[in-house]
Formats: sequence, structure tokens, C-alpha cells
Amino acid sequence: MSQNPQSSSKLQFRIEAENPGTAARAACFETSHGEVKTPIFMPVGTQATVKGQSVDSLRTVGSRVLLANTYHLMLRPGTDVFLKVGGIHRFMNWDGPVLTDSGGFQIFSLPHRREMNEEGARFRSYVDGEMHMLSPEESIRIQKCIGSDIMMVLDQCISSTASFAEAKAAMELTHRWAVRSLEAADGRGDGGPRKAALFAIVQGACFHELRRRSADFLTQLPFNGFAIGGLAVGESRAEREEFTEATAALLPKNFPRYLMGVGTPIDILEAVHRGVDMFDCIIPTCFAQRGVAFTSHGKIQFRRTVYKFLEEPVDASCICNTCKNYSRAYIHHLVKCEELLGWQLLATHNLTFYHRLMSEIRTSILEGYFLDYYQTRRKELIRSDEDNPIVPPNIRQRPSQNLGNYEIYRAHAALEKSNASLGRAGGRGAEQSQLLARIRQISSGEIMHSVPDPMDESNRLYVEQSRLVHQLVQTPTNLGATPLVIWDVGLGAASNAMAAVLCFERLYSDSGPSSNLRPLQILSFERDLDSLTLATKYTKHFPHLRHPAPHNLLAHGNWKHESGLLQWNLYKGCFLETFKSATSPDIIFYDPFSSKTDSPLWTAETFSDLFKYCNKNAPAKKVELYTYSGSTAVRAALLHAGFFVARGVSIGLKSETTVAFSPGEAGEGLLGSEWLQRWERSGAKFPIDVVEAEARSKFEEKIRGHFQFGHPRE
Ligand SMILES: [Zn+2]
Repeated sequence: MSQNPQSSSKLQFRIEAENPGTAARAACFETSHGEVKTPIFMPVGTQATVKGQSVDSLRTVGSRVLLANTYHLMLRPGTDVFLKVGGIHRFMNWDGPVLTDSGGFQIFSLPHRREMNEEGARFRSYVDGEMHMLSPEESIRIQKCIGSDIMMVLDQCISSTASFAEAKAAMELTHRWAVRSLEAADGRGDGGPRKAALFAIVQGACFHELRRRSADFLTQLPFNGFAIGGLAVGESRAEREEFTEATAALLPKNFPRYLMGVGTPIDILEAVHRGVDMFDCIIPTCFAQRGVAFTSHGKIQFRRTVYKFLEEPVDASCICNTCKNYSRAYIHHLVKCEELLGWQLLATHNLTFYHRLMSEIRTSILEGYFLDYYQTRRKELIRSDEDNPIVPPNIRQRPSQNLGNYEIYRAHAALEKSNASLGRAGGRGAEQSQLLARIRQISSGEIMHSVPDPMDESNRLYVEQSRLVHQLVQTPTNLGATPLVIWDVGLGAASNAMAAVLCFERLYSDSGPSSNLRPLQILSFERDLDSLTLATKYTKHFPHLRHPAPHNLLAHGNWKHESGLLQWNLYKGCFLETFKSATSPDIIFYDPFSSKTDSPLWTAETFSDLFKYCNKNAPAKKVELYTYSGSTAVRAALLHAGFFVARGVSIGLKSETTVAFSPGEAGEGLLGSEWLQRWERSGAKFPIDVVEAEARSKFEEKIRGHFQFGHPRE
């Protein structure tokens, strides 16, 4: 890291919090129009207006700093207007800070002819056809006239895919211009305000050597902040992330870092993780114009007719005026008619989404749980951007402990804190454990039992809900019964199976060797044993594995309790291929990875096969299935298969889990007509294997006619 002899005293930049394992930081700084808290997103107000937004609306959605554009504003209205009215703040009635772009990027992207030379850029105005010269000095003069709080140096922005020689020449010119900009900023001789800060722009395209040289050169000069320029102009997302990370690491800590022109919500989250503080992008307003909204469940394209009748808001978890007052159906209508109000309402929503994201990121850094927030949020944001895959950052907390596709993942106790502060279940145990270890699948990023206490989840969701104690104690009705069979689908680190084993052992030791317990068989299904193998090496993090059972299961594929009453067997391989050779179950702990990672296990076809196999001896033998998923599509798939479906207990971040069982009498928490109505309106009502229109209509018919909703059985 370069050591700048200067401090950013003009901005009084102060880091408020950093989190280990990430370059993210929360900071604040002062401008002549007030304090700025970072990480921050700055809406783009190219023409001294953020498209479709009044300044009142901008304040309401949470905008703090606006970006204005030197190139556009020099051409229209022109500097004389700003000189007359006294700057952009008074001109547009905005009292917050304004950052002005130097015009370098616009000249780079000019469709018309332009000439670059040592002095500056010559180009023809799109307004009146006049020739203009934009030099570093002229750019600073104009930014002063505009009354900017943060000015940018003029740089030569080239394509990020440029050759080394081309990139090097542009970088060197940018450096000479940076020196001239500094001199111009400190000089006198025009009438504009002089309190503005000045940021340099690190160039160097996609060459580490050039990025390093550029950062070395610029950070020796008395700038007040540093921008990472020349990205989001042609490189791949992986390259963008690589060079953002590398360049941010070259910049001094005690100055703001600004990634220009980036990006989507996931781009921003990734860049904060890599140490960036400031962002601007036209995406929230530009996507609004195209009828696209960012929501907590991904992007929504409002042109689609599926929204025609939906009375719910754009995003039920959003607090913006659009979501408070208008339905999806109305927004769909406005977008279809290309009404300006549709654009405006969606821009209001999208800006709120961006500012809320930034504020959540900032809070998570201040409160020490950014990494956990990042992990969780990243998955949601990737989902909304599936056409644009993402490479995880190289930043590692500590040397990882891996086996195959699994690693030990350490979550700080702050995970609980975040859950507790969000008013979610699972705050318990936060004080006892400083560092919680989990198994994480590397390829998907999914963490097994990503709740404060995995055994607590296993007990509440699987052992207690299935009333295992009750089922194991011999009563006159189950006396002499065949063994109780539990299918443990997705063995993972064996916390569910061990919860059942430990439950059995407690009962056994309470009642003594002469106990009259019903025999228990646990059949665990797992494709990849690396996760359990890995966890058994670190039993200090996984205390439930300090037991001979899982070690024997790994070594021999089975384990038997000394009483002979409990037997545990392993079925290795894909569950779909192995389950039909297993004794049919009484209870299923259904705990594979999510439908995104392990999709074949969540299809309508799989649940139908499962239902048929498990209920082949019905009504003599009934089955109960417990799963952590509360998803509408999963519940519909279970209903479609023939199960009765009820709400399960809430665990950790999940407000509801699901219980499915063989058809019978009404049970507790059974989904009723209210759920059916919600399902009818849901945008995710079908499992992934129900695609064709005909299959969908048959599927719908079956759900609507389900015996559970009061229809007579066929
Ligand atoms: Zn909203």
C-alpha cells in the first residue's frame, strides 16, 4: 500500500469500522454541503437532474450525494448560467453535496469525432455544433463554476481491453493531466467557489503493472480521494472484480475510494467487500425507464403480462412511496402504456432499493457482521442477475480447511447479533460462542445449518416436531411394532441423525437397559461424504461428532447401539437412485441443499415418486416428512404429490418450515384456503420441472382440487 504523505484533511475522512476477513469499511467525511457516510451510492444527475425525480423525492428515497456531469453542463446550460445563479445547488434547489465528473468518460464515449492531444480533448458540441476544447484546467474551471463539492480530474479513459502500449500511454497522459488539474484547482483566477475537494483517477486498464504504477504515482500527490477509473468499459465481470480488488488494495487507507460508473446491486456489494467506499451508476433510473424493478426477490420486468392482475406492491418488504401506494398491476399498466409516471415510480423504488442496500451494508460493517450479511445477500443478489455469473472474491479470512467441495466456514458470533437485531429468531446462544464453525459447500456457497446452533435446529425442526420421544416409547398401541424407520436425506455433517441418536440414548439411559423402547433404524442418504469426513476432523467445532457413531458410519457404513435397539445405516449415492432399495420410512428428515444447488431433489416428479414409494403400504403405514424449506413451490410440489401439507416451526432466518404427511385427518397448521389464495397469486407457484402450459394447468387443477382444501377425494 502506498503511503501518502498527505492526509485527506480537506474531507476529514474517518474510518469508523472495519471487519476482519474483508476490505470493507464504514467511514464518513465532510464536504461544504454536509457530512457523507460511506459506503454510499450516488444517483446520477447528468443534466443537473436525476431523471424523473424531484429533489424532494430524492431526499425521501435517501439520496445524499448527487453526481453531475461537467461535459453535459458545460454545453448546456453553460458556465455563465452557473456563475449567474451561484452554482448548481441553488440552480437545482439541492442542498446536499454534489460530485462532478470531469467529462473524460463522456469524451471517450463520444459518438462524434474528437481529438485527444497533450493539451486536452477537442470535440464538437452536440447542442450547437461549436468546437470546444476540454483541457484539465478547463475542466477544473467548469467544475468550480458548477460549484461542485468533489471535483474529478480530467483523465484519458480508454477501453479496458486496450493493449498494454495503448493503456500505458493513456495512463501517462492521465498522470500529466492530474498534475495540471491539481495546479488549476489550487490556482485563483475564476469566480467559482474554492472549497471543493479533488479526486485523482487511477487508470491502467487490465494490467496489474500499470495499475500499480498509476496508484504509486497519484497517491504521492495531494489529492483528497482516489477513484478507480477505466472499469465497466468492456472487461468481463471477473476482470472488473479482480482489478477493483487489486487497485483498492494499492490505495492509502485514510482516503475515500470511488469506483466510477459501477454498477448493479451485486457489483456494489462485491466492490464494498473489496474496499470501495463510493459508487455512482445510471442503472436504477435507467432500468426504471425500461420497466425493471430491483426487489428483495430479484429483478422484475414489468412488461410481462404475469403482473397484469397482481394487486400486491412491487416489493412487499419495501417502504418506498411506490410500494406503499401502488400495485404491480398498475405499474404494469403504466409501463405498457409508456407513461412517464411508471418510469418515475419505478425510479423511486429502485433508488430506495439501492440506498437501503447501502445503509444495510453500512450497518453490518458498523456492527461487525458484514461478512455474514455479504454471504446471505450475495446469494439473493446473484439470483437476480443469473445471466451474469460472479467469481467470488479472493479475500480469505484465514487459511481454509477444505476437503473436496467442502470447507470449514467460521461465522463470528455477530451472526446471532444480526439475527437478533433484525428481530429474527435465533438470538439465543450469542454470548456463549465467539466463533461458530459450519460446513460450507464451496461451489454453491451454501452453509449447512446456517443458524446459531445447528443442533438446536436439528432438535427443533426434526426431533421435536416428529415427536420422536413419543414414538420411541412403547405404548399399548405400538407394542411389538416393527422398528421405527427414519430417513435422513442429506446426511451432511450428521447433525440431524446425531440429534436422533442422542435423543434415543437419553431415553435409553433414563429408562435403563431393561427399557422397553421401540427399535429405531436411521437410514442416512448422502452423495458426498467429504462434508462429514471434514467435520469429524474438527470435532472441537462440531461437538455432536465426539461420538463413535459417525466415525463408524464413515468407516463401515453402519453403526449399532450396544442395546441392539438402534441401528444407523448409510446409503451412499444419489438419493433418487438409492431410496427405492431402502425400507420405507415412518419419518423423513428432508435436508438436502436448496433447490438452487440440489434442484433434482425438489421437483414435482421426485416428491411424487417419494409419495408413491412411502405410501405403498398405506393406510397401515403412514409417513411424515419434515423440511426446512417453506417455499411456495416446494409446498405445491408436496401437495401435488398427494401429501397433506402443514406449516412447520420457525427456525433461524426462516419464518416457516414445512411438514408433509400421508393423507388423513386435519392436522395442526394445515395449509388452508388462505394459503391457496396466496399460491394462486404467487410468481413462484410451480416447481422447476413443471414448465409446459399443459403440465402447469394440470398441476394447478390438482392443487385446487386437493382433498386438503375441503374437496372430496376422488
Ligand atoms: Zn419500493
